Amino acid sequence: MIQIKLRQVQQRIAQACAQAGRAPLSVQLLAVSKTFGADAVVQAHAAGQTAFGENYIQEGVDKIRQLAHLPLQWHCIGPIQSNKTRLVAEHFDWVHTIDRLKIAQRLSEQRPAGLAPLQMCIQVNVDGGTSKSGVTPAEALGLARDVAALPNVRLRGVMSIPEPAIDFIAACAVFTRVRTVFNALNAEGLGLDTLSMGMSADMEAAIHEGSTMVRVGTAIFGGRTYPA
Ligand SMILES: *Cc1c(COP(=O)(O)O)cnc(C)c1O
Repeated sequence: MIQIKLRQVQQRIAQACAQAGRAPLSVQLLAVSKTFGADAVVQAHAAGQTAFGENYIQEGVDKIRQLAHLPLQWHCIGPIQSNKTRLVAEHFDWVHTIDRLKIAQRLSEQRPAGLAPLQMCIQVNVDGGTSKSGVTPAEALGLARDVAALPNVRLRGVMSIPEPAIDFIAACAVFTRVRTVFNALNAEGLGLDTLSMGMSADMEAAIHEGSTMVRVGTAIFGGRTYPA
């Protein structure tokens, strides 16, 4: 079942790339396994998926520990409080939700020697949505420069979680604002390669507007029985 849904999502990505005139391999799929067990991750991995996203730190770390024998890449896509930075620094490969320098500094300080730098994205809030996370577009450059200068970090890009839009056109209008921030940071020489946007309901619009990484949960694993 997960295998079939994974194929369907890969086809949606390929079709959206074709329609946008983009190379099919220009968009990576991050499978969002939050609320699902390690067994679901094992099934997705058996079907060829290697990158997984988790929102809740402790839940994610439990899965990472259980599945340490598999060559998986783990992305933290949920909010991080100061008291959770050490767990994130020690276990995850990527963090998409950087919107405060203090958190990025702690993650850098706590990244164990011997692990690769922690890959980071700056979270941008382009629609003032009810989720208050994310910096404004105007704040993004200053934070990005500071984060890029941290020793055990590699700044990779920009991430956003816009409010659901009413249709494709409206979704594109919001995603294009995220891409504008991404382009502006690159115009300042930050050398970013990751634009993390698009979920189950709006990945086509995100890909149309330049997403390089879609974060997809429901369309792969099914509906979640507890929220977020
Ligand atoms: C849950 C979540 C997703 C996946 O959402 P779906 O609609 O289930 O595809 C993507 N990004 C973030 C930050 C999430 O919290």
